[in-house]
Amino acid sequence: MIVVMEKNATEAQIAHMAQRVQEMGLKSHVIRGIERTVIAAIGDKRGGERESLESGPGVAEVVPILAPYKVASREVKPDPTQIQVLGFRAGAGLVGIMAGPCSVENEEQIIASARAVKAAGATALRGGAFKPRTSPYSFQGMKEDGLKLLALARQETGLAVVTEVMSTEEVGLVAKYADILQIGARNMQNYRLLEAVGNSGKVVLLKRGPSATIEEFLLAAEYILNEGNPNVMLCERGIRTFESHTRFTLPLATVPFLHRKTHLPVIVDPSHGTGHSYLVPDMAVASVAAGADGLIIEVHPNPEKALSDGYQSLDFPQFNDTLQRCAKVAQAIGKTLS
Ligand code: PEP
Ligand code: MN
Repeated sequence: MIVVMEKNATEAQIAHMAQRVQEMGLKSHVIRGIERTVIAAIGDKRGGERESLESGPGVAEVVPILAPYKVASREVKPDPTQIQVLGFRAGAGLVGIMAGPCSVENEEQIIASARAVKAAGATALRGGAFKPRTSPYSFQGMKEDGLKLLALARQETGLAVVTEVMSTEEVGLVAKYADILQIGARNMQNYRLLEAVGNSGKVVLLKRGPSATIEEFLLAAEYILNEGNPNVMLCERGIRTFESHTRFTLPLATVPFLHRKTHLPVIVDPSHGTGHSYLVPDMAVASVAAGADGLIIEVHPNPEKALSDGYQSLDFPQFNDTLQRCAKVAQAIGKTLS
């Protein structure tokens, strides 16, 4: 249910109603919109809650939430959510740019990448330290040493750091170094991990599972939001289809569709979405045109020598050129790269 407060409801009335919701054994999420504040009341109902809440002070109405996901839905929060961490901002007119290598490989590689992506206009540095590789014989990442190098790169450049966390046990460790925790596509439905990042206090970048429906994707986001963490970004990174000319199939209609359903920022990953560096620039530009609130792009000083995903990584000049094109499209649709 959504407890919609009157436009002129006082802070005391809002706090009182949030308390009432909790006394009913429901979770309360206070969501402050531009127009008015609503309180989402989530959990198993025993009956009679709606009538009881409706009579509360400062309450305009109590309405059921129709979508299966609650806190993520536009019904609960009509205004778009904007994420901000260090200089990185995404959502509500700002297109946040995250870029960097697939994996952190060594100090020289990550520092050079950080400087180059920053100079081109990125505000967050990506780089995997814990890598979910299809084969156990592939490079698995530098783990904590990689996290330390990411923190060093942040210190050098001021970029926010986004990196993947693969297991619940490692959430504390990764959160110690990163600004944005990435949940990889393979872990989208690892519910205990979603709850753990929901409790981490960090911004979360949730990647869509390659075979997940949009509803499953939004319900996964709901696990994080339900822990009281409102800072979630959704990332379309391509799905598995019968098509084989690209590594995955990148459905850009996901972007406007998600915007209808949720207030959360929608990010696109054209690198994993296509799997070919020559397709990345055009799909990055197309993502911005489709309304994406951000991009995450793999960039490497020397893609040919990359320890992972070199074939889909841009070199520095290609990334620079891509962002310039993205900036023009963003401007044409009334947005700004951030
Ligand atoms: C990555 O970002 O390098 C990655 C492994 O992404 P995904 O989880 O989308 O495959
Ligand atoms: Mn990768």
